[in-house]
Amino acid sequence: MNAKEHKTWTIGAILNWTGQYFRDKGVATPRLDAEVLLSHILGRDRLYLYLNYDQPLEPAELAAFREAVKQRALRVPVAYITGHKEFMGLDFIVTSDVLVPRPDTEVLVEAALARLAGVSAPVILDLGVGSGAIIVSLLHRLKAATGVGVDISPGALKVAAANAQKHGVAARLALKQGDLFAPVAGRTFHAIVSNPPYIPDGDLAGLEPEVRHEPRTALAGGADGLDFYRRIVAGAPGHLNEGGFLAVEVGRGQAAAVAGLAAMSGLGVEAVIRDYAGIERVVIM
Ligand code: GLN
Repeated sequence: MNAKEHKTWTIGAILNWTGQYFRDKGVATPRLDAEVLLSHILGRDRLYLYLNYDQPLEPAELAAFREAVKQRALRVPVAYITGHKEFMGLDFIVTSDVLVPRPDTEVLVEAALARLAGVSAPVILDLGVGSGAIIVSLLHRLKAATGVGVDISPGALKVAAANAQKHGVAARLALKQGDLFAPVAGRTFHAIVSNPPYIPDGDLAGLEPEVRHEPRTALAGGADGLDFYRRIVAGAPGHLNEGGFLAVEVGRGQAAAVAGLAAMSGLGVEAVIRDYAGIERVVIM
């Protein structure tokens, strides 16, 4: 864009230019990202872009879009630039203090919803609540449910609080700063859900550039990636009601190891569920 500073940019022309620029920068979905960012700057949906393809951008719009493009070219995740990510049909606020909610994690939420359907007023614990995507989606669907969200990161808890407020569940969600079960000593739950950090330390450097913009505390799972599962599976029996369950997201190839930990802890494995890509993604115990 710099070389053509004084040219009038139409929506169509700038999408074409940006799509190519992102492609050159190695962005996985270059055209889509250009459209999402321009929609965000203009405060319109993507359809608007196509219905107004020949419309010139105002100088202020162009300046704001240029800044967003600069960020994305540095491989900052789209959701950190727009400040939003859709999950379970809800719009979540996200900042760089939290992991960007992933579609695969919806499998965990759906599995928990299915198992809580018959419970009249379930109490749910989310370990490593992050943006709140999991627990807020659950409480939004289950109107009689209450929950506790724990996170070690004060920044993440602020984001979770904003999302709980936004989706009308703040009165039913307690957010607590601390390390896993520490803030809920002596309490039991119908369900414990978690998407803990599970990337083996040695794999962190090789992650996609976007993931390296995400909080390391939300990703690093120790030498074999299983550190948090060891502690969660060991602690869960003491925090589950009779008939309660633990549901965790796992990384590729980790389901069997987590099932092994469950066996040692006296928890039976009820189901292993695959994600949209066919990868074993959720273990229910
Ligand atoms: N799903 C994330 C990734 O693959 C990892 C999330 C996590 O560690 N819980 O980048």
